[in-house]
Amino acid sequence: MVGTLSELETESVTAMACWEERLLTRATIADVPRSCPMAPEIGWNLSMAAEKTDAFVIRQADFSESSRVVTLFTRTFGKISCLAKGAKRLRSSFEVSLDLLSECRIVFLPKSSGSLDLLTESQLIQRFQPLHGSLPHLYAGYYVAELLNALLEDSDPHETLYETVRQTLSTLSSPAPIFVPVSRFELSLLREIGQLPDFNTCTICQREIEDQETPRFWVSQSGLICSSCGSSEYQTTEIESGTLSLLRQLASEEQIPHQEPTFTPRQKKELRRILTAAISHVLGRRPKTLPLLNL
Ligand SMILES: [Zn+2]
Repeated sequence: MVGTLSELETESVTAMACWEERLLTRATIADVPRSCPMAPEIGWNLSMAAEKTDAFVIRQADFSESSRVVTLFTRTFGKISCLAKGAKRLRSSFEVSLDLLSECRIVFLPKSSGSLDLLTESQLIQRFQPLHGSLPHLYAGYYVAELLNALLEDSDPHETLYETVRQTLSTLSSPAPIFVPVSRFELSLLREIGQLPDFNTCTICQREIEDQETPRFWVSQSGLICSSCGSSEYQTTEIESGTLSLLRQLASEEQIPHQEPTFTPRQKKELRRILTAAISHVLGRRPKTLPLLNL
């Protein structure tokens, strides 16, 4: 016998509430009822296995009175957005693991189509603890989160970049100045998404540019122009001798341990101009948090 509409609704809502409760009490995915009548409607695919990975929290947004949407940069699955039900409740099972830039070990249910993944577990590995009392170190962390959120495609893994993020956040917890870790992170991110400018050849004539040359940086094309091609018709910025080799050193995937590059104030300014132009070129705007870093 078919029940009335209100009976069916009550049944569905009860099953849903029961299922939510189980999730909130840190249930394993094996406990989630696969027959949950609402599951197909809300888009979570209960027939798929839950996935486990490590992740950095790169964005949080309120979803309802008790739940949040968290954007995570995961080691194995790249960037994903998950619904964390109950995350805003005081005694949530997620506790403090979902703070911005925390690294956590998560379990989630992948979406089947067009909706959010569902976060079912999150355990804190480490919190981001920027150098005490230094706002630039704190904002540099926010800048890392802003760029990851804005420039990574969903579900596109970047394991090398994951390690770079971990190293960057660890350096931002130390008294070391933020210039080198932030610049290395920007270059590493650009390389990973296939947008690293060519710092070796002239954009126009394709000639190789030597270390000691003083080329120009073509802002709108985010590339170098050699001295013979340099002309006022392009919006360019001059580069001092030595800046190019420092830039190449920072962009190199092989870092020499304990040998930090040193810069003159002018070289620092030139490097910042090039890196900000390259990042803004890909982003289509200037990053919001960048001016707070005082680089
Ligand atoms: Zn040229």
